[in-house]
Amino acid sequence: MIGDNIKAHLLDGAVVAARIKQEVQSEVEQMVQTSGYRPCLAAVRVGDDPASAVYVRNKIKACEEVGIRSEHHALAASITTAELLDLISSLNRRDDVDGILTQLPLPRAIDETTIIEAIDPAKDVDGFHPVNAGKLAMGRPVFVPCTPAGIIELLDHNSIEIRGTNACVVGRSQIVGRPMAQLLLQRDATVTICHSRTRDLAAVTRQADLLVVAIGRLGMIGREHIKPGAVVIDVGMNKVSDVDEVRRLFGEAADKRLEVVAKRGYTLVGDVNPAEALEVAGMLTPVPGGVGLLTVAMLMKNTLKAAKLRREIHP
Ligand code: NAP
Repeated sequence: MIGDNIKAHLLDGAVVAARIKQEVQSEVEQMVQTSGYRPCLAAVRVGDDPASAVYVRNKIKACEEVGIRSEHHALAASITTAELLDLISSLNRRDDVDGILTQLPLPRAIDETTIIEAIDPAKDVDGFHPVNAGKLAMGRPVFVPCTPAGIIELLDHNSIEIRGTNACVVGRSQIVGRPMAQLLLQRDATVTICHSRTRDLAAVTRQADLLVVAIGRLGMIGREHIKPGAVVIDVGMNKVSDVDEVRRLFGEAADKRLEVVAKRGYTLVGDVNPAEALEVAGMLTPVPGGVGLLTVAMLMKNTLKAAKLRREIHP
């Protein structure tokens, strides 16, 4: 039930993700018809982390939906960095592979940085390679990490102005916070980046017309952090199962979430307190149903882009 005090409009990630996948699908079909070539994504997963298995499965499923070929390389946790490097270099050499993604996190024994840096930047569809991160920082992006790129698509789809706004990104990870800040800067926002050492976080975030939160702290961003009417993008994905916590976070919508907890054992919550944000923000991404869906759609878009650039196809 929606209460009287709810002001924010929810930004639907599903609609935008479906549109992106539809566009990719029709371009892939066009490519197959004109050149006989179908793009291919190779997904590499190491170990048996259940969350990683679900993420990779979703990416393979998305490939099927848009007509991209996919390969799933599932490797034992006991693999060494050298053995994984061998696989990456064989995927780099293969002309029929356009995109390579290594599902993170890798087991501790493997040197993650070495693996990321071994991927051919032209096949780095996750956009994590230093060459791609550097190009983005220079304002010449090629492959941009999928989550922040998806957020830009979401903002554009909803005609949300970026230019000239005060934008604040909370979190400075390589995969979300930093590239997000770069993309907003490139679109002429005045960008502030916050992190765990920021003094008086709420005083900073309250200045933001556009607030992107990627910290991995369940419901931490509350009423006091949000400027009234601001656009709030919640990247966080955290599991919650405690009944009192669910009531605190979801207020009047808690009953529906508690049904999910009863069925699955948990419900997903972002880094933003949804009950409080809905009362203050102008727009808010829901969790689930917001940013998460866009990440996989953008991976499809990046894989198509890699195939086009590698074959110098400019439809
Ligand atoms: P991460 O690598 O752990 O980085 C977290 C960042 O948040 C760090 O920069 C950290 O600051 C900052 N931080 C932590 N606690 C803070 C606090 N109390 N106040 C201010 N800043 C704080 O996380 P990530 O990979 O960026 O992911 C962030 C969240 O997004 C997670 O919930 C993750 O599951 C989710 N995620 C979702 C998607 C999606 O598709 N929806 C994709 C990626 C990630 P320091 O740098 O100072 O440590």
